[in-house]
Amino acid sequence: MRDAAELIKRVKDPRLMKIAEAVIFKEAVDERDLAYLLSTNRILELGAIADFVRRRMHESRAYYGVNINLNYTNVCELRCPLCAYSKDEGDEGAFTLSLDDIEKKVSTAVAQGIDEVHIVGGLNPALPFEYYVDMLRRIKAIQSDLHIVAFTAVEYDYFSKKSGLPLEEVFRRFIDAGLGAIPGGGAEIFDGNIRSVIAPKKISADRWLEVMRTAHRLGLKTNATMLYNHIETIDDIVDHLNRIRKLQSETGGFKTFVPLAFHPENTAIASNRRDSTGFDDIRIYASARIFLHNVPHIKALWMYVGEKMAQALLSFGVDDFGATYVHEKVVHAAGAKTSDYGTELHLVRLIKDAGFVPVRVNASYEVTHASGVY
Ligand code: SF4
Repeated sequence: MRDAAELIKRVKDPRLMKIAEAVIFKEAVDERDLAYLLSTNRILELGAIADFVRRRMHESRAYYGVNINLNYTNVCELRCPLCAYSKDEGDEGAFTLSLDDIEKKVSTAVAQGIDEVHIVGGLNPALPFEYYVDMLRRIKAIQSDLHIVAFTAVEYDYFSKKSGLPLEEVFRRFIDAGLGAIPGGGAEIFDGNIRSVIAPKKISADRWLEVMRTAHRLGLKTNATMLYNHIETIDDIVDHLNRIRKLQSETGGFKTFVPLAFHPENTAIASNRRDSTGFDDIRIYASARIFLHNVPHIKALWMYVGEKMAQALLSFGVDDFGATYVHEKVVHAAGAKTSDYGTELHLVRLIKDAGFVPVRVNASYEVTHASGVY
């Protein structure tokens, strides 16, 4: 919906009406309004406001990518309670890919026509700093225009500590080796009390934000994530989104916000929450679209929320559908029921079926294939 008069007609709830008016006049929505958005069950009115913002920014375009997900090791010294993916060295199922393995996997995926490689892994003490830099160089040598999205803020902090190099220097070396953008993982929920339960050894929220600030200063664009549906409250979500919005107003370096529904299976979190409901998911995505007025994109990873919900979310503020993610391992270790390989044709069908125009891009939103192909 692009018409302000139409939006006003659709919203009946007085508090939502006030928020809709703020949105129409491009005024920032405050934290109390965000808490209200996150708890309303007037889902169609909430959706109408989020869709207004979404279409003002992206019209009917819906972005998706064609990439490979490269999880280079699952050995991790942090062993966060929220994580179903990590192992100790020597455990059954523990693995670390050699650079030759990586080259082979990427070459195979390149032959299948990917545009991008998305790389995240555990904090494996056995790997030297050169391993990561050489990984990027060897991937770039396969095809120089492959876009590389690599390593979370948690990994960069680890690389800096392990190598003794200042963070800026770490980033410069990766940029030189071909780094294109940074994923948004490791943000979880910023609140310290919640973090101390779900990921006690992970870097603090302040450090996560500092790593991102440094990356932004060097011209790198990044995502920001938020893990929800574990032990957080609405106040924790408000705090999380507020800190992202504040840093964004300072740096402008976040391109995408990515909410991630927590999958408890195989994790050590005794969450007495059940799976998120459809309304829970919609509230998170739509509220984020309305509150994060300065972040260009909201992404729904279909493998986290399910492809059917992801399709519906395109009408509730989401403009980025995620990517094909060949060989995704992290969320599937935690029990995600979706296929770990969404073919491009299937993603395109889901987007078109929802009434949007699919646009194939890399993680920096550069169009990689002319539209109208499908
Ligand atoms: S969430 Fe990340 S940092 Fe924590 S144990 Fe899993 S791989 Fe390691």
